[in-house]
Amino acid sequence: MSQGITCALGMSYEIGLTQMFQSFLAAYPWDVVDEGIDRVLDHMQGELGIAGLSLWCATPPVVQLRRPNVQPRFFRTRGGLFFQPSSELYSDTRIKPAVSHWVGKRNVIEQIAKGCADRGLTFRCMMSLSRIGRLAHRHPETACKNVFEDSSLTSVCLSNPDVQAFLCDLVGDFGSRIAVDAFYFTDVASLWREGGEGPVKSPGRSGKLASEFLQVCFCESCQQVASGADVDVAGAIDVVKRVIDKRMDGADESEFKFEAIIKEAPALLSYLEAQTHRITELLRRIAERANADVFIMHEQCKEGDSSSQFADSTAIAGDVIRVATADDVKANPSGTKSMQEIHLEGKLLSGASTSELFPLLQRALETGISAVHFGNYGLIPASAFDPIRQALRYARRTTAG
Ligand SMILES: [Zn+2]
Repeated sequence: MSQGITCALGMSYEIGLTQMFQSFLAAYPWDVVDEGIDRVLDHMQGELGIAGLSLWCATPPVVQLRRPNVQPRFFRTRGGLFFQPSSELYSDTRIKPAVSHWVGKRNVIEQIAKGCADRGLTFRCMMSLSRIGRLAHRHPETACKNVFEDSSLTSVCLSNPDVQAFLCDLVGDFGSRIAVDAFYFTDVASLWREGGEGPVKSPGRSGKLASEFLQVCFCESCQQVASGADVDVAGAIDVVKRVIDKRMDGADESEFKFEAIIKEAPALLSYLEAQTHRITELLRRIAERANADVFIMHEQCKEGDSSSQFADSTAIAGDVIRVATADDVKANPSGTKSMQEIHLEGKLLSGASTSELFPLLQRALETGISAVHFGNYGLIPASAFDPIRQALRYARRTTAG
């Protein structure tokens, strides 16, 4: 039996009708290993009542301060893969997988996946698509480029054919070696991003608006894709440079809204649509290789607010399930069928905001959402564990009734 679920963008997905309320918790592998695999999984399942783990298996760089009970208290990784890739698969690909130094030769993902299987916990693989640690650094020819031709040190471009081939192989490789119930992707966007040097310095008050336009990728692959779709690439470049320069020269921020500007700039709008189309194709290819459900997350791409490419791409890729955010649920009128799963960030679960958890979950259930995904185990303060446990109990009671 299946149920049609319509996402906020109007696309209908067929999913299995789920009577049971599902709950998942994201975690970094280092947090699970350093606190103890058995201990963390027992805590998740026995005390919190979580039904599945979403484990980060390919991450961007992370710098993290941890809870007092976890050693070392301060953790830093340049990111990369946290599983051992089948190297023969990548002998012909231009991009070679970069395994995290922390994981070394160990098979921690397999151990954690086995721990989940032993307990009957669902196991899902979380991966960043465009910000896997060190890829852009090692393969600058695949990096996103801003309008001034600067290559990002942290994000590769999803339009690039080598990146696409690599990601498809990576997902296929993972799925063929580790039993996985679903893939969960973040950073599903081709956006130029700064390295670890902090915000870009610039004259005047260039600020947020300039950074939104700076994120638009003009790498060779994106330009080629757009030219192939008869887009006026020079016109798109011109718009972006003009907006940034005008803002730099003192124009007030209120004059500029990214969405409003692109609507009045057909060349740039078509350019972004061509990127969207390219990402959608990639998502379709990945979904074919995944042999499991594919979820994509909105949150990370919302920071700069420039990625209309991301939202649109999910509307077209019918095999891919977009995860709702707290904002989606708040914006949806009660009773509207929406996305099937909501993602709640660790920061939502701290201090006073835990009191928002009950009404938010209640609202989510009313809008047809049947699963909650909490992120991220290592970033949830100990004081939030009890509210999570109570909220999940409430959600299960409500849905069982
Ligand atoms: Zn690009």
